[in-house]
Amino acid sequence: MRLLATLALLFALILGAAAAQVRRGKGRRTSAPPKPASKVSKTAEPTKADVKTDVPDSGRTVVCIDPGHPSEVASGQNVQNGTSETHVDWAVASKLREALEARGYEVVMTKSSEGELVKNKERALVANRARAALMIRLHCDASTERGFAIYYPDRQGKAKDGTTGPGPGVIEGSRRAAEAVHAGLAEGLQGALNDNGVRTDNQTKVGHDQGGALTGSIFSEVPVVTIEMVVLSNADDAEFIKTEEGQRRMAESIADGVARFVAPAKDK
Ligand SMILES: [Zn+2]
Repeated sequence: MRLLATLALLFALILGAAAAQVRRGKGRRTSAPPKPASKVSKTAEPTKADVKTDVPDSGRTVVCIDPGHPSEVASGQNVQNGTSETHVDWAVASKLREALEARGYEVVMTKSSEGELVKNKERALVANRARAALMIRLHCDASTERGFAIYYPDRQGKAKDGTTGPGPGVIEGSRRAAEAVHAGLAEGLQGALNDNGVRTDNQTKVGHDQGGALTGSIFSEVPVVTIEMVVLSNADDAEFIKTEEGQRRMAESIADGVARFVAPAKDK
């Protein structure tokens, strides 16, 4: 009896092993070997998505924020009414980043710390490389006026190196963006700051001297607006933008304007 049981067990083991062999063999025959990823991308037609950018495609709309100074033109660090343009630009940029990310946008900054010097041309290239839907340049004015104004390129200009730009598509997109951002600021800052409306790069001295466009606009391949958020040489404007509340209100108003121009998710 015991021998019979041992034989039966042995027989069962052999049968089981044979069945397992069949299953493994069957698996090998039906599943195709995985193709190495590098081979796939080499044989595929190059598409727009294959071109290298600084931002992985998350499906979210990219907005580039450019805190204005220091640049090769101006440090922005001279103290006016107890603060500096560089500081205010950076403080609002940081809050704007938070506000846009909370709404689902992908944000790219032109610099990573308040004191970092970035040349104006390089600022535009950061937005271009990121294929931003919009480039927002944050500045503060110094004049006898008070309040905010939105600037955009309404014509081409010529940079010192002979480059002309931006293209017609960027000019048209910038105009629409300026109107949208202005609407956000007009509503969000009502009663706090004077509204100086939408203006053109040609109305700035640097823009006018370059044939009508600021350097950051000439090199831009994406819609670009420059926001003069306050007149920092005006004591009342400075008091507003020096507070956390004022900076946050400015950032939220700009984010509202961005939302009027482009949705947080890319169109497929
Ligand atoms: Zn500035």
